[in-house]
Amino acid sequence: TAPRPAGEELAELDRRHLLHPWTPYGVGDQLVLVEGSGVEVTDAHGNTYLDGRSGQFNATLGYSHPRVVAALTEQAGKLMTYALLGSSNEPAVRLAARLAELLGEPDGRTLFCNSGSEATEAAIRIVRMYHALRGQPQRTTVLSLADSYHGTTLAAAAMSGSPLAWTGCGPLPEGFVRVPTPGSTVRDRGEVRPGAEALEEAILAQGAENVAAFFVEPVLGVGGIRPLPAGYLRAVREICDRHGVLLVVDEVTTGFGRTGEWFAHRREGIRPDLLTLGKGLAAGYVPFAAVTTTAEIAEAFAADPMLGGLRHGHTTSGHALGAAVSLAVLETIEEEGLIEHAAAMGERLCGGLTDRLKDLEGVSDVRGVGLFAGIEFDTFDRATQVMLGCLRAGVIVRSEGPVLAVAPPLIVNAAQIDRIVDTLHRATTAATG
Ligand code: PMP
Repeated sequence: TAPRPAGEELAELDRRHLLHPWTPYGVGDQLVLVEGSGVEVTDAHGNTYLDGRSGQFNATLGYSHPRVVAALTEQAGKLMTYALLGSSNEPAVRLAARLAELLGEPDGRTLFCNSGSEATEAAIRIVRMYHALRGQPQRTTVLSLADSYHGTTLAAAAMSGSPLAWTGCGPLPEGFVRVPTPGSTVRDRGEVRPGAEALEEAILAQGAENVAAFFVEPVLGVGGIRPLPAGYLRAVREICDRHGVLLVVDEVTTGFGRTGEWFAHRREGIRPDLLTLGKGLAAGYVPFAAVTTTAEIAEAFAADPMLGGLRHGHTTSGHALGAAVSLAVLETIEEEGLIEHAAAMGERLCGGLTDRLKDLEGVSDVRGVGLFAGIEFDTFDRATQVMLGCLRAGVIVRSEGPVLAVAPPLIVNAAQIDRIVDTLHRATTAATG
């Protein structure tokens, strides 16, 4: 008998042995990927796809970028180490300094983590410990938006609005309260409908003296690719200041060019107290994430009576590989002009999707900013059909319930954007015909 094709064997092993995160059983076959180059990936059957969702929104430089691969292999051969318990390393130090510079925070401090969920978790611990050290130990309540997503570790899940994150996982940690999500789409952008007053109402209802922080994503990602209304972040910054509440901006998904800017919150000119970063930081090449904060908050931990420092960290915090890769990613974004490029390609993507899809049967909304677009369908079923139609046509998009997320790597070109838009148009027409 002829040997079994490797694709079939891998698909069978995948079905039998992998416990797939965030994947409904029985929807299509798993994509067992074997290689990638530029914006394309190839599966074990030899099919090639345009990756219209950048891995998990993180592959901002696409696949096998020579510069990133070189930085990774060079550091692997040089030093494998971390940054905690009294030691750090050259890439971690240089990266922290570079982030401070990029964020316009000359004395900004960074704690490195391994995932966005860990960054969320670290930020929760930092804001609570900070208030306790400043004589306000009752300031523990953490507020977040009703449609937010901040991760799946237990506290991050307790904070996330999406029931997918926490249903059936209780008892959950206490002290997390949800605030109504403000509305915004591409169509109503510019309309004055910030809805920030809901935050102030929630702070007052909890008693401002009990509230530690408000966490917010500039564009709700898992919540359906929903950009916050213009003015919202500025308004919540003022409200937080008025009540001594820390503002934590979650740019795990939006950071590093996704929205056509280095950081989405800069559009509103605000300064968060803490910022969580992940995905695009190391462009998906290694697991890596971060929390940045101000010198003032960082210095407060010197007064910790038990340690005289920040009581937080993991075995692989500040991994030299993650830091070396991230430095190469930031240099590449800068030298290849990828922020400006992402902004231009983002206009083409959001404009194309709005023109071609907005009025199609079954489409309820098209929205987005930069290379972060969402198409909302009338049903989850239709969104799934369109996603599978795109996959058959060689384009990967991502499903967030009834919303399809389109977020190609920043290196995508105009012809590839047009192919994504065309493919979505055809798949949507087929799913409604
Ligand atoms: N915050 C946001 C805004 C996210 O979108 C995600 C992941 N989708 C996370 C945090 C959690 O990151 P990770 O999956 O790396 O734990």
